[in-house]
Amino acid sequence: MKGRNQRYVYSLLIGILVMAAITIHHRPEPVEKSAYLMGTLVRVKAWGASAGRAVPEALEKLKRLEGLFSRCLAGSDVSRINRAGTDGVSVSEETVELVGEALHFSQLSSGAFDPTVGPLVRLWSIGTEEARIPEENEIRCARRLVDWRRVKLVGERRVSIGRGSLVDLGGIAKGYAADALRASLLRAGVDSGLVDLGGNILVFGSSPKGSRWHIGVQDPLKPRGRVMGVVELAEGAVVTSGIYERFFEKGGKRYHHILDPATGRPARSGLLAVTVVSVEALDGDALSTALFVMGVDLGMELVKRLEDVEALFVTDEGRVILSPGLAGNFSLRAEGYSLETW
Ligand code: ADP
Ligand code: MG
Repeated sequence: MKGRNQRYVYSLLIGILVMAAITIHHRPEPVEKSAYLMGTLVRVKAWGASAGRAVPEALEKLKRLEGLFSRCLAGSDVSRINRAGTDGVSVSEETVELVGEALHFSQLSSGAFDPTVGPLVRLWSIGTEEARIPEENEIRCARRLVDWRRVKLVGERRVSIGRGSLVDLGGIAKGYAADALRASLLRAGVDSGLVDLGGNILVFGSSPKGSRWHIGVQDPLKPRGRVMGVVELAEGAVVTSGIYERFFEKGGKRYHHILDPATGRPARSGLLAVTVVSVEALDGDALSTALFVMGVDLGMELVKRLEDVEALFVTDEGRVILSPGLAGNFSLRAEGYSLETW
């Protein structure tokens, strides 16, 4: 009797060990690294044998992109474009590609997204110590310089802009960078991964739970990290633009960093945040900014016209409005909101 019991315990133990070995083999710990780049916290997580080498390599590449797209670094392509003005200047392939994409989304959104918001961004300086409410005439002057049609892609790699205009790729560069990180990780052979550039989230490969990925969407009224709801997806991008990202308050009013090129002021579209679910993070980044400016009605009309793009709008009355393709893939997790489908 004793012998049988012992054998039973042994085989149970061996069974548990084999199970554990299989689990460890299938779900190795991910390699995770974060860095402060492109004005935001960047988090990269990757699974697979090559992840240890792939993650630092991908972050290294991101540094190069920051060096090209930054509005503040004097030697960046964006700064060189802004200094060269109408003469134009030759830039890197990546910058030509990103400027081209920015112009595409400007046209698509009828100018709600506009990479020449630079003079307005500088005037308001939201997110810096110099943030202030400009005078009416200052806004009028700056607004005249904002027009994406003044950006010209000339020759093979040359970009020129109208006199006084300033390019600012802050509304699209992080999406481009997230896509580039994913490409770099995949090239290095990782199995799956998660990239988060300050709310520009991209997931690929199978999720650690073996099911679909669950991506938390920030509650726009709560401290960072508090989730309003969860998007479920097989893979792709979940990108959010909101009033909570960068802002200042004066006289009981909030002035946030998404500017309406038509008014020269922080967009007042009755929204707290817009989340876009798409295949590429670049599309999500440009569109979340554009849709925020456009508001629910015009925004949903645009989403309807686009393939593989879904969106979620959060209004200042607490309505959470899903595009039809998101219904069933989003669950609300916070109090004070109501859910509806467009
Ligand atoms: P975040 O930087 O919080 O991810 P967005 O992607 O919405 O948010 O980008 C906001 C940034 O984009 C601003 O800081 C500014 O540099 C730029 N920007 C502001 N308004 C617009 C606009 N209407 N079109 C294009 N870029 C914009
Ligand atoms: Mg954006």
